[in-house]
Amino acid sequence: MYLSEHSLNTSREGFYNITRNVRQSLSESGVTSGIAVVYCPHTTAGITINENADPDVTRDLLLGLNKAFPDRGEFRHMEGNSSAHLKAGSVGFSQIVIINAGQLLLGRWQGIYFCEFDGPRQRQFFVKIMSD
Ligand code: ZN
Repeated sequence: MYLSEHSLNTSREGFYNITRNVRQSLSESGVTSGIAVVYCPHTTAGITINENADPDVTRDLLLGLNKAFPDRGEFRHMEGNSSAHLKAGSVGFSQIVIINAGQLLLGRWQGIYFCEFDGPRQRQFFVKIMSD
């Protein structure tokens, strides 16, 4: 078992490619077969996997999420960031990636992203590596 904590300073909103950080954690763990869990302990930020080739994809994902979950006058949450809670809930707070032959079993076009919906903030995420 191996656990690493990572921190990042975010902008107001955006997708941050953290694939390199997860690969670094995997390398440090020495595990060659198992699973990696990437998790963030937040309620207005999430973790997702999506295309890493064209940066317009994550830009469009953010645009689509903002269209799907706009701020609404009916929201009652006093902090005023219910749309950020909805967007974070929709992408989820963790991802699991299979480790095979010492590598993350990601598709050629896949990257792992930390998704900020309510920054700027100092954020954390964790990588847990479990061997077979
Ligand atoms: Zn809130």
